[in-house]
This record gives sequence, structure tokens and C-alpha cells, in this order.
Amino acid sequence: MSNLTFGIIKPDAVGKGVHGTIIQRILDNGFRIRGMKLIHQTRKQAEGFYEVHAGKPFYDELTEFMSSGPCVVLALEKENAVPAWRNLMGATNPAEADEGTLRKEFASSIGENAVHGSDSNENAAIEISYFFSQLELV
Ligand code: ADP
Ligand code: MG
Repeated sequence: MSNLTFGIIKPDAVGKGVHGTIIQRILDNGFRIRGMKLIHQTRKQAEGFYEVHAGKPFYDELTEFMSSGPCVVLALEKENAVPAWRNLMGATNPAEADEGTLRKEFASSIGENAVHGSDSNENAAIEISYFFSQLELV
């Protein structure tokens, strides 16, 4: 799965209506979209997805935010997809994100930071299977 990663266009970006622009940027950067859908997560789904962060001070805020509105979940294919997608996203805190990254352009805070990306090939596989069945990956 090293050519696949998992991404989310988070509720802040969908709420601002910039999800189309972000999808275009993804395509312009040479990713192939293997799976894509608009969903509105329940609090329980968001808590399960971010279980690794349970107990951290921002966990409640994060899971409330991620279940606050619709988001776009994506299975993305490219060579070295995990680092390639994290590079396009930029640093977690938009104040530290490089020019030209999605978080620099679209994120408003460290919490509401427009996009999610997997941090390893192993987590990419787990995260894709959290939201997509095999039949939904084309
Ligand atoms: P990344 O999304 O860049 O992999 P993390 O895995 O560290 O970052 O954190 C997951 C998400 O939790 C972040 O994208 C962000 O939405 C939120 N988050 C992380 N750190 C903070 C923080 N200090 N305050 C508020 N929210 C945070
Ligand atoms: Mg992370």
C-alpha cells in the first residue's frame, strides 16, 4: 500500500466551500483519486478514527470539530503517497506551514486545519479501511 494514502478535507474547509479547490490541487499535484465521498461523521466515528489521540488535551475539541459538519474522505494514489500528501498539506499548525501548502492557504488554526493525512503506510491502510470498502476503491 506504499502508493496509497488516506486524506480528509475537514469540516472547516467544506464549510468554507473550498473543497473543490482542494480537490483540484490534489489532482494538479499528480495524485490519482481512488476513492472519494462526502460524509458527515458521528461523534462516535470521529472518536474511533482519532483513538490514537484519546486522552490528549485537544481530543474533545478535535472529535467535536470533526463531527460538526460534512467532510470529504479520500483514498489517494501516488508514488510515496504518504510523504507526498503530507508535503502538500503542510505543517499541522498553519502558522508553521510553508508557502504553497494547503494548510498555509486554507487552515485557520492548529485545530481547524483544513486537511488530514496519514502518517505512515500502516496507518494509511487502517484509515482507508475505516471509511472505504474494497468495492468503493476504483
Ligand atoms: P496531523 O493532522 O498533522 O497529523 P496530529 O496527528 O498531531 O497532526 O493531530 C491530529 C489533529 O489534531 C490535527 O490535525 C489537529 O486538527 C488537531 N490538533 C493537533 N494538535 C492540536 C492542538 N495543540 N490544539 C488543537 N488541535 C490540535
Ligand atoms: Mg496525525
